[in-house]
Amino acid sequence: MVGTLMYEVCRICYNTESKYIFEGKLLHHVVKYYECAICGFVQTENPYWLEEAYDSAINDVDTGIMQRNHLCSKRATNLCALLKIKNEIILDFAGGYSIFTRLMRDIGFNVLWQDKYCANLLAKGFGYDGKSVKLLTAFEVFEHLESPINTLDEMFSISSNIFFSTLLIPEPTPKIEDWWYYGQNHGQHIGFYRKKTLKYLAKKYNKNLYSYNAEIHLLSENRISPILFKILMRFYNLFFIFTQKRVSSKIWNDYIEIEKINDIKFL
Ligand SMILES: [Zn+2]
Repeated sequence: MVGTLMYEVCRICYNTESKYIFEGKLLHHVVKYYECAICGFVQTENPYWLEEAYDSAINDVDTGIMQRNHLCSKRATNLCALLKIKNEIILDFAGGYSIFTRLMRDIGFNVLWQDKYCANLLAKGFGYDGKSVKLLTAFEVFEHLESPINTLDEMFSISSNIFFSTLLIPEPTPKIEDWWYYGQNHGQHIGFYRKKTLKYLAKKYNKNLYSYNAEIHLLSENRISPILFKILMRFYNLFFIFTQKRVSSKIWNDYIEIEKINDIKFL
């Protein structure tokens, strides 16, 4: 390794010394990985293979998709109790097939969907229309971002609260064959965060950071109890029994609303 290959610009803090750590096979490419000493972010080299990786927006090996959406909807319901959100708009950013949007509307929250790369299959009529948003959710999105800071700028221009999941990379940085989250078989994961990285982002955007179990995080304008956040995330099933009762399901109202839209189409 000589010259410029030793270092790349960190895609989070933009320092020029994100250091080469190893290379590994991603799809059928040999890809270099870099780690930033300042913010701890681990990134691939410039991801030239993404078109191939996104042949399908949801990768074929995402067998956890339904379980994850159920879990996220319960945790989000608990968080809404903590942030006192009832009728305000929530945006599911990069919301995939809109499973989470539909589940949350079933529970009773005004969740809208947005995704530049995926079809809205389950929440037609509830796409995001640019209104102000109390909470933005982004599950399994951060590790896909080509320009995380540009996307975070966009997210924070929409909402001051971002509730998101991304699995934090262990320390020391695991080898490519020792951590499933590198996603060697789909090539869509191109950036990996640490607590240090999230703290850097919280400071940059002047937000409070709350994390549970290296998997689910909140960047918020609100100050909340970190212990309560952890308890609501850890015992999500138990608290969900109570927190879901704050709102009423939108299944029937949504049916009426969609029918109206369809009637207009037929006129
Ligand atoms: Zn960095």
